[in-house]
Amino acid sequence: MYEPVIGLEIHVQAKTKSKMFCSCAADYFGDEPNSHVCPVCLGLPGALPVPNKAAVDQTLKIATALNCEINQYSKFDRKNYFYPDLPKGYQISQYDLPFGKNGYLEIETPDADGNLSKRQIRIRRVHLEEDTGKSVHEGEYTYLDFNKSGMPLMEIVTEPDFDTLAEVTAFAKLLRQTVIYTGVSDAEMQKGQMRFELNISLRTNEPEGELPPYRVEVKNIGSISVLEKVIEYEMKRQREILEEGGKLSNETRGLKDMTGETVSQRVKEGENDYRYFPEPDIPPVVIDDAWLASIKAAMPELPWTRTARYLSLGIAKDQAEILVDQQEKGNWVDNLVSELKDQPTLIPEATKWLVGEISGLLEKNGRDFAASPVSSADLIYLVSAQQKGELSGSAIKTVIAKMFDAELGKSGAAAEIVQAEGLAQVNDEAQIKVWVDQVIAENPQVIASLAKNPNAAKSLIGKVMGLSRGRANPQVVEKLVNEGVAS
Ligand code: ZN
Ligand code: MN
Repeated sequence: MYEPVIGLEIHVQAKTKSKMFCSCAADYFGDEPNSHVCPVCLGLPGALPVPNKAAVDQTLKIATALNCEINQYSKFDRKNYFYPDLPKGYQISQYDLPFGKNGYLEIETPDADGNLSKRQIRIRRVHLEEDTGKSVHEGEYTYLDFNKSGMPLMEIVTEPDFDTLAEVTAFAKLLRQTVIYTGVSDAEMQKGQMRFELNISLRTNEPEGELPPYRVEVKNIGSISVLEKVIEYEMKRQREILEEGGKLSNETRGLKDMTGETVSQRVKEGENDYRYFPEPDIPPVVIDDAWLASIKAAMPELPWTRTARYLSLGIAKDQAEILVDQQEKGNWVDNLVSELKDQPTLIPEATKWLVGEISGLLEKNGRDFAASPVSSADLIYLVSAQQKGELSGSAIKTVIAKMFDAELGKSGAAAEIVQAEGLAQVNDEAQIKVWVDQVIAENPQVIASLAKNPNAAKSLIGKVMGLSRGRANPQVVEKLVNEGVAS
């Protein structure tokens, strides 16, 4: 009945050395207010802007990664509006000839039955503009800091293609990864390097393909989790108004706090209110074929390509996603992959230990991934011993824990621990049968319950593994326990 129609506009600060139209240094974060300013970014009369080619490169890069067509003849325009943190009275932006248009980003989301399906979210445009200054409100005063003024800002606008919150979340995360992978920005949300603007309305009885007659815009959302909360809040707020027979109109709303609650700010301006016209101080930008080819040639591996590469190596999907999202882990596995060129079958198992046990212990000890005491040579030794039947999984767990305890980082440490602790897997059936017989003799109540609860045999297997200090071959244990309880 009430289906959401959602579109996003995302502003991303481009990673450059200097600002968009002047030579002020772009690394202002944390510096004294108004310490990175000049006549151009203060908007003083007569100051002339000079476009930053690196920022154009970054915009072309993200537009290309988002499958956009590139306007090879492009230009900047003035978007006229007044705000205290925009002293020129206009923002230099792009209007009818954005650098990128008609692209898409393919996301994957679960349907109602939990099956994953792929969907393309259309990108309407990618353009380049300048950021404004920052208003700092303190008591009855408002202070202005122009360090951010004139920072290069890429704006990515989607079509209103999102039908669910899950799609928005998947898109926002993948877009952020893509921005980071292409190197166009660090996309650090807490530094304001990536900000979301939401357009949301509810479809009632509109015919297929037609949009609701109103649109609510929520500006300046600084994190994906707040974005999710705002969507939930707005869906509820708008549904309640519509259910009571109320009417909604075009409106800009702002965040009240981080709970997702929004408050009305103003009735939304139309495009005409901005009086766009071509920026007379900057000549059109012509991107010749060679420039465009150099952008394409320098395109790094993108998140979805990396995911596909991991899946083709036999790595489990949830683990592949972690490796793509947390690049230091991904890079570690890439290194492992090159070391395992001749034994590719060990890759999925080694990755499982890395993403599971090793990551867990690093996190628990508050340690950086680079400080892992388990080297790739050690991990390769462990999983290949497991594959040869010389080490059990629980023995590997013990070895890894001991490596963390002992701060042993040197290559070969794993083998020394296996030796010193006598952790080599026991495959000898006669030895394992001794442990199995002992466990069966000591647990008559479990044996008695087997008729009602066949799963109880699993607890016997666990006890045998414990008695062997993790050394017994688990397949042999399972076989002998099943034989033992059946007799
Ligand atoms: Zn400046
Ligand atoms: Mn903008």
